[in-house]
Amino acid sequence: MEKNETVQLQWDELRQFLSSEQIDAFREKFLEIHPYDQALFFMDQPEAIRLEIYNFLSPEETADIMENIELEDIEPYFTEMDPRYAAMVFAEMSTDDAVDILNELDKDKVVSFLTIMDDEAAEEIKELLHYEEKTAGSIMTTEYMAIYQTQTVKETMAVLKEEAPEAETIYYMYVLDEDKHLVGVLSLRDLIIADNDVLIKEIMSEKIVSVSVAEDQEDVARMIRDYDFLALPVVDFQHHLLGIITVDDILDVMDEEASDDYSKLAGVSDMDRPNDTALLSAKKRLPWLIILLFLGMLTASLIGRFEDALSVAPVLAIFIPLIAGMAGNTGTQALAVAVRGLATGEYGKQGKLKLIVREALTGLITGTVCGIVITGIIYLWKGEFFLGVLVGLSIMATLIVATLAGSLVPIVMDKFHIDPAVASGPFITTINDIISILIYFGMATAFMSFLI
Ligand code: ATP
Ligand code: MG
Repeated sequence: MEKNETVQLQWDELRQFLSSEQIDAFREKFLEIHPYDQALFFMDQPEAIRLEIYNFLSPEETADIMENIELEDIEPYFTEMDPRYAAMVFAEMSTDDAVDILNELDKDKVVSFLTIMDDEAAEEIKELLHYEEKTAGSIMTTEYMAIYQTQTVKETMAVLKEEAPEAETIYYMYVLDEDKHLVGVLSLRDLIIADNDVLIKEIMSEKIVSVSVAEDQEDVARMIRDYDFLALPVVDFQHHLLGIITVDDILDVMDEEASDDYSKLAGVSDMDRPNDTALLSAKKRLPWLIILLFLGMLTASLIGRFEDALSVAPVLAIFIPLIAGMAGNTGTQALAVAVRGLATGEYGKQGKLKLIVREALTGLITGTVCGIVITGIIYLWKGEFFLGVLVGLSIMATLIVATLAGSLVPIVMDKFHIDPAVASGPFITTINDIISILIYFGMATAFMSFLI
């Protein structure tokens, strides 16, 4: 994190206040900066200073900081806090954020926090805790604005004023019937422009888009994106309103899913984090590297089988890295396009077929161009026309097949419900190595008589 000079000065000053125990001065300076910036400062301090900060801040103020820290980094802070203080911080956080963090902690720690916490907060959290990970239920919050269809606009305004401080968003109000079924929705704008005596029933929109608690979080993200809402209601199978998911939670989901996909593309099971130790990073990467090592041995032994061709025309060896490299490059390009499309759900059945046909054509065009260029270069460089044609044709065939493989492999994997992002870059590259060498030496063997 780069810090400019003003921030540096501000931080120095804050540290100064902390070490000289000037509570009021610290609070005044610290609380005037944005909670996200507070979090940056907080995380930069050693444990002793952080303990000081907890002493200087109320649980509510600390909760604001905690809501701005990445989930992966947060555990140690709650562990070092006094458990009573930690429980109060949880109670002050918005329920969905508190639940996300509690899900990261040991079971017995969670139980002890919930025991200390006051009953109301504990109840809400307990309710959310048992939803399956990565479902709508696990990311929703129960702090929404609920109103009744028989209320007037004026009455609703009063309710709004009362409940607004607690609600995650007040822009949408969800309308319930007597049995808490979700029957309508109203935006703040709709409410404000309506006359005071009008009934909610008359101005609410009844065409409600909602998601079920069990819905996959990725599908929820897609719906929010497609409908352009700021929040979506979450219902049970009888259409009772259970909670809402707001767009800021969805940004986190998209981030998480994208970095998930990206890690898999790069061949690391769980994305390396900048502050992992070298040993941990190595542990995450090694499984893939070992698998690829064996696949690589396959390629090596394949080349060994063409020893005869190589001994007749050793010059063939020069172009192995070129051809294999080109196959890898084009495969990775096609892979990225296909995985992205699959992840965003852009393709229907039709779309996949269209993608494959397009990739085949793309491979044909790029292959032809690269083939002609390399033929020319080899001819000018080595003065060998047949060798040029051989390498050129190999490149052309390789690019067509490798491009196709790059898009086909993820689509096939998707069909068999294997996460297509697992058809990772290194994997495709190795497959394409094998394909390209088979093509190259296949052609070389067939046209050996022209080479000598
Ligand atoms: P507009 O875009 O019409 O000017 P707006 O900007 O005030 O409205 P939007 O967020 O665009 O608000 O929402 C548009 C409309 O969608 C609002 O009238 C709101 O009542 C309605 N709406 C909000 N959530 C849902 C939902 N889950 N299902 C159906 N309709 C919804
Ligand atoms: Mg709008």
